Amino acid sequence: MTVDTVIAGGEVVTASDRYRADVAIDDGEIAAVGDPGSMPDAEETIDAAGLLVMPGIVDPHVHIDDMFSVDSYETATAAAALGGVTTYVDFAWQAWEGELSIFEEEGTLLEGIERKQQKGEGALIDYGLHGAVTREDPAVLEEIGDAVDAGVSSFKMFTAYEIGLTYGFMHRVLEAVAEEDAVGVFHTEDATVTDMLTERFIEEGKGDAPWYPRSRPDYTEAMAAHDAVTMAQEVGAKYYGIHTTCRKAADVLAAVRDDGSEVRAETCTHYTALTDDVYDEQGNLPMIAPPIRKQDDVEAMFERLRDGTLDIVSTDHCGYKREQKETENWWDSAFGANGLQASLPVFHDAGVNERGMSYPFLVRVMSTNPARVFGMTGKGTLDPGTDADVVLFDPEESYTITAEDNASEADFSIYEGREVTGRVKRTIVRGETVAADGEIVGEYGHGEFLERELPDWDV
Ligand SMILES: [Zn+2]
Repeated sequence: MTVDTVIAGGEVVTASDRYRADVAIDDGEIAAVGDPGSMPDAEETIDAAGLLVMPGIVDPHVHIDDMFSVDSYETATAAAALGGVTTYVDFAWQAWEGELSIFEEEGTLLEGIERKQQKGEGALIDYGLHGAVTREDPAVLEEIGDAVDAGVSSFKMFTAYEIGLTYGFMHRVLEAVAEEDAVGVFHTEDATVTDMLTERFIEEGKGDAPWYPRSRPDYTEAMAAHDAVTMAQEVGAKYYGIHTTCRKAADVLAAVRDDGSEVRAETCTHYTALTDDVYDEQGNLPMIAPPIRKQDDVEAMFERLRDGTLDIVSTDHCGYKREQKETENWWDSAFGANGLQASLPVFHDAGVNERGMSYPFLVRVMSTNPARVFGMTGKGTLDPGTDADVVLFDPEESYTITAEDNASEADFSIYEGREVTGRVKRTIVRGETVAADGEIVGEYGHGEFLERELPDWDV
């Protein structure tokens, strides 16, 4: 028997273990993992001496090619591939009319799914979609089941912005989500407070970036998280809290997490690696909602990842240009920043190098957990029979992050000038190398839309 590829001489990392092993890949799937030298003959042998061989990163929270990102699927998946990311989950929007909208008229969730699938035809890596409910039109309740059938098994709701829903309507969406056994995904900030503070700062002329985090304080995030998670539990729906940033919000989630609870949550790389000093240093560039917090909140993110309150580290990637960020007053700046390309090396540095977290921990929070939480059974593992999505990572190589290397359309990095130890050397998606040594080598269009299943959170 001859297989397509053998990755030889590396150290395999899984969600539970780390050991010397070779990996055989055939027909886009993992064929075998075993003792060095024990694999069958291969068409191609990849030398992984000195490298870690990990399941590809699964990023369940990115914004691509819509009002929150100038990145196309080509540029975003290139950034992802260079960053060791083999699957991401973007958003399919129910079209609405408003200041933030790019849509000419209102539209349905299913149209939103089709629209993103068309945009994704040139993808380099695999991608899935969350549905995003933006309007209180009861017709959307009838779409939830069809969206699940189309492979979209999670639904995002906002408590803030013009797309924010009232708790009353969220309740109805959650009932439909619970009926399907799908997942409710929540952006939680109490908008009545953040809007009031924003207005106040505008009146007072407090337009410098360091005022921005004070307009969206940590307790507003905790308040809304408490309301949303309480309601989801009462309705009996799976709850996923996106971008947890602070100790207070994490404490709210910790209070409702137990072995049987249908609650899962993430933080993002930047909340583990940066503090609100960035607003002094970089102005509006790191303006992200919720804001980057204090050092104590950074430590809380690690405590809560360690104790299992938080399951996942994502990027919340938004591809914006400097000119969209560098406005005179922070309230005119776009919210969000790019992170797909730098996420793994930055989190590796913050978690493993600086805090001594293990490599299996890294694999769990960046690959295995996101795949499991969002119903991607063939992803996030090196088990034989699953997709051969692999990242080869040199844990010793140091380099300095700069936006000059960005494959994203975004022309800045909130990690600019940061020296990190640990570098992505090769990214493999379903058996095909898509990035190697910092260059894209794969074919655009190799990436596929991933029909996600309904996740089982009891395993
Ligand atoms: Zn987001």
